[in-house]
Amino acid sequence: MTKYIFVTGGVTSSLGKGIISASLAKLLQARGYRVTIQKFDPYINIDPGTLNPYEHGECYVTEDGAETDLDLGHYERFLNVPTSQANNITTGRIYQNVINREREGAFLGKTVQVVPHITDEIKRNFRILGESGDYDIVITEIGGTVGDIESLPFVEAVRQFKWEAGPNNALVIHLTLIPFLAAAGELKTKPTQHSVKMLLEYGIQPDILVCRTEHHINADIRKKIALFCNVNINAVIESMDAQTIYDVPLLMLKEKLDQTVLSKLKLAHKNEPDLESWKDFLGRLKNPTADVRIGLVGKYVELPDAYKSIIEAFVHAGAKNECKVRVEYIPSASLTVENAIEKLRGLHGVLVAPGFGERGFEGKIEAIRYVRENNIPFFGICLGMQCAVVEFGRHVLGYADASSTEMNPETPNPVIDMMEEQKTIVHKGGTMRLGASPCDIKKGTKAAAAYGKTRISERHRHRYEFNNKYLKEYEAAGLVPSGINPENGLVEIVELKNHPYFVGAQFHPELKSTVANPHPLFINFVAASLAYARKN
Ligand code: GLN
Repeated sequence: MTKYIFVTGGVTSSLGKGIISASLAKLLQARGYRVTIQKFDPYINIDPGTLNPYEHGECYVTEDGAETDLDLGHYERFLNVPTSQANNITTGRIYQNVINREREGAFLGKTVQVVPHITDEIKRNFRILGESGDYDIVITEIGGTVGDIESLPFVEAVRQFKWEAGPNNALVIHLTLIPFLAAAGELKTKPTQHSVKMLLEYGIQPDILVCRTEHHINADIRKKIALFCNVNINAVIESMDAQTIYDVPLLMLKEKLDQTVLSKLKLAHKNEPDLESWKDFLGRLKNPTADVRIGLVGKYVELPDAYKSIIEAFVHAGAKNECKVRVEYIPSASLTVENAIEKLRGLHGVLVAPGFGERGFEGKIEAIRYVRENNIPFFGICLGMQCAVVEFGRHVLGYADASSTEMNPETPNPVIDMMEEQKTIVHKGGTMRLGASPCDIKKGTKAAAAYGKTRISERHRHRYEFNNKYLKEYEAAGLVPSGINPENGLVEIVELKNHPYFVGAQFHPELKSTVANPHPLFINFVAASLAYARKN
């Protein structure tokens, strides 16, 4: 029978429920359990696909093409197991399902209400992955903070679920904050007490408290929290601020979070967790032998969460290369023909990020021109690859007016154009080319050297594509289509022949980079940047 763990948050948002959930999952996985994590978000959007990155950070795309919360990226990076649509559910989706059934007449004349209809639908969704038979333990992270109006139906559904599952089958971990008052020189437990009181008002006694803190919480504080919050003292878990998120599983191991969970769920402690390769990764991450400076040119750089997966992919690839990747954020809108050289000077590599819309487009083109002409390693992802194609069209092929029809629908040279099947779509949500598709790699290319195989699969999220009408001309001038979709002939990777590393990918390699499997295109891009740094 599948066991269920719910993770709620109190006191404030941004305590890192996603990282705690992923770390616990990692420890349980390392003990031999099959674990997955799902996230329930209280907002009304059906999925985060239509959200501006400034709202919720990056939109993470799964193999099956679901546009999801960025926490799913952490789950995959920690566990190295793919997630799917079922791993991210929003209030919007819950209501949509219920309302669709109401229109079908499925409720037989009854009044449709939050309790029981919405809460029943939430509980049904809690169970979907557990019922697949693929998992021993399902961890469910409830987005938002307990006490928010929006998250109430989820909290009520957790209460009912726990009661129905019976003892030892489901437990609640509540994440709280123990603030340090500098003036008093003290850690304060009152916000935690209040937060637990609020959960109790909703009928939930948390089983474990994970306390975020900047200072160690001593035995006295632990005792106090245990006494006032009705939990065992070994269920008060300290979660200190960490140097890197990848330390958190080991910090949780030290606090015996996994053992406490297993005891409460009456699961065997099995073997000690096997964290050898994890520790090996941490060792390389923390002992770099060199430094590289890589520029990340993008439209949303004020909020690094907008590029979460790219930044983490650099962490993985850096560790693999035993070097520290210093990512420098460059707002694309600030780049001009005049200042590109000055803004990009001293960088050992430049990544041009994915994105949408016109703002910053010309700045990206300038950045690419500079790195192409100066043999500086370049990696373009999605819009970044499209910009590279436009830049090459303008400055090498001589089509001064070459563009993407996303930026200039009237361009006489649409080297990047919308796919035919996209042209009739009017709805924005969930209608891009989304999720995994296959790609054939051309032998003897940089892509082939990176992947070491001829058939790969990568995840997509875009509407526009390389326009194959121009393919021959590009190839003749030295831009190699090194990855082609075998199903429809679309160009998935382009690269320059006579350049140390100039690669553009129409897909999103960052989404598949994990601690266990750093992405080959990132590994080789960092390696090329390192080589450039050593020479210059
Ligand atoms: N805006 C571009 C498109 O829709 C690129 C999208 C992206 O970078 N994810 O094709």
